[in-house]
Amino acid sequence: MASQPKPKTLVMKFGGSSVGTPKAMQEVIDIIQQSRADWPNMIIVVSALAGVTNLLLDGAAQAAKGSTEKLPEAVERLRQLHYAIADTLVAPDGRASVKHEVVELIAEFGNLCHAISILGEASPRALDAVASLGERMSVRLLAPALSGAGLPAAYVDATRCIVTDRRFQNAHPDFAATAEKSRATIWPILEAGKIPVVTGFIGATPDGITTTLGRDGSDFSAAIVGAVLPADDVWIWTDVNGVMTADPRVIQNACTIPELTYREMSELVYFGGKKPHPKAIRPVVEAGVGLRICNTFNPTHPGTRLINEKPNGKKNGDEILKAVTAIRGQRLVTVEGRGMLGVPGVAARTFGAVASTGTSVPLITQASSEQSICFSVPSSAADNVVAALQKAFATELVDHDIDRIWATDDVSLVTTVGEGLRETPGVAGRVCNALGQLQINIIAIAQGSSEVSISLVVSAADTDAAVKAIHSLIV
Ligand code: ASP
Ligand code: MG
Repeated sequence: MASQPKPKTLVMKFGGSSVGTPKAMQEVIDIIQQSRADWPNMIIVVSALAGVTNLLLDGAAQAAKGSTEKLPEAVERLRQLHYAIADTLVAPDGRASVKHEVVELIAEFGNLCHAISILGEASPRALDAVASLGERMSVRLLAPALSGAGLPAAYVDATRCIVTDRRFQNAHPDFAATAEKSRATIWPILEAGKIPVVTGFIGATPDGITTTLGRDGSDFSAAIVGAVLPADDVWIWTDVNGVMTADPRVIQNACTIPELTYREMSELVYFGGKKPHPKAIRPVVEAGVGLRICNTFNPTHPGTRLINEKPNGKKNGDEILKAVTAIRGQRLVTVEGRGMLGVPGVAARTFGAVASTGTSVPLITQASSEQSICFSVPSSAADNVVAALQKAFATELVDHDIDRIWATDDVSLVTTVGEGLRETPGVAGRVCNALGQLQINIIAIAQGSSEVSISLVVSAADTDAAVKAIHSLIV
């Protein structure tokens, strides 16, 4: 028998702000309704209502300090937030049972907090049990709300789909086991003509203990589910019009980037771009599933689509650079000295000393003269880092093999991203020229060998002007 073509399958993920209030959740229902006709198979992944995960984790943190006085307040707040949605969006005949389920989960929160307060500590495993309650409540509201709107739906705890290791609070999925379990759980619901409404953020170990994928992990959940089913497309609904060319608070004419390659996206995310969660990119790329970012509050806007390759023929100068971002609040640390030339191991010892302070380094440059290594660290860490380096190189400083270890005042890393940088000569020159014309001094430059981004270090006071100047090369 010839196999039937597989019906088109879409995973849509909605974040906390998209379901935070009855009004927002109604928008979500409207969006699902509008897309339903085009997508016979539709899976929804949803976060906890806005603020709920923080509320839960704060309660657990208080309890770990032995304090449960504020617990009744938190319980009442959780009840109100969820009841408001049940009262508005769940049909009267189902409302009591939905509220009952929510109340039971809130009671679990109370019990867990009491247990934590008796122990006087919250283990990562206990924190995951607490944090998971937010998503477990939100799906129990959205599924009946959809059913009531004529879109038959069933909620699914992702503990029945996503199998992870035991790294509580930052668990990693086992893709093979997850594929098997997700398909076994989700396909029958789809075949019954229903919309599975799956908890974001959570999974379970092979023996069924609840884990979480890390804060803001629901994007990752959607990507995992989309990759293993596999879906045709994953759409991440958020509260902005996709990925922007720059921060609209700094650049008035910042606009949505219609298409971005996966590599451009990863560099952008790395340099502080907003969405989607960096971990969400890899599973969909590897599975060849499409990814789109769109705005719940502006659903007709096309948003940003992530693509695998740069479309052919789009090489004219205006499309080389796609976006510019700034990371503020950094300082540049320099280790310099003539005695470093040709001495192996200086870089390793430098970064060993930095790592010992628990600081991560977003940008590194070393000129081929080998007389200095320069890198940036968050301003708050700079003094510690310099002290650690002075200790590590105490002998070399005395011997003047290293002359100086020092940190600049505050700087920003301004990064511009674009796949076209690779084959287009002269772009770095144009970027530098744009700053030169405004008399902005470039303190350091780094370009990774991926050639998808260039980062310039400028003084804090020059940040906005530098971002504006580079943005004028984009839009
Ligand atoms: N609710 C979780 C959090 O706030 C996951 C998410 O929102 O994606 O971190
Ligand atoms: Mg959230």
